[in-house]
Amino acid sequence: MDRIAVFPGSFDPVTKGHESVILRSVRLFDKLIIALGENARKQSYFTMERRLGWLHELFDREKNIEITNYSGLTVEFCRVKKAQFILRGLRTSADFEFEREIGQMNKLMVPDIETVFLLCEPEYASLSSSIVRDILRHGGDVSRFIPKDIVIGMDFDNKQL
Ligand code: ADP
Repeated sequence: MDRIAVFPGSFDPVTKGHESVILRSVRLFDKLIIALGENARKQSYFTMERRLGWLHELFDREKNIEITNYSGLTVEFCRVKKAQFILRGLRTSADFEFEREIGQMNKLMVPDIETVFLLCEPEYASLSSSIVRDILRHGGDVSRFIPKDIVIGMDFDNKQL
């Protein structure tokens, strides 16, 4: 049976931290589904099209990576996709506490799906999408923090902010 993992997130925007987790984990699974969650309670900074577009630019050449969006429970999405694993990155103990709660609730709901954690690379431990957004809001240069093949500049479509 193929080992299929879902890597859920907002990727708002995708950072070098996300890229690193994806590239390091891709060989652990037969298929990795990068899944952009539609969160009704969380207004995103960049549109879904934009965030999906960057992920496609970065990973379309990887044969065993699929990119899509989803709404609803991550475990339900995993069931639909026949994924046995949820992949998450861990930066700090705060991440751990947050992830532990979600991971254990998911485990109670669907015991046969395992959450797998990858420790982030030390240089990305302080890197988050929210910090990248803050830098952008103030007109700063984020090129060191985002994958080198994509451009995220001031021409973004954050009309709501
Ligand atoms: P969410 O809104 O679900 O937390 P994110 O897009 O912020 O989604 O993150 C998706 C996943 O990537 C999470 O598991 C998060 O811990 C991980 N992640 C985010 N930034 C980094 C980083 N710098 N290094 C490693 N993993 C990261």
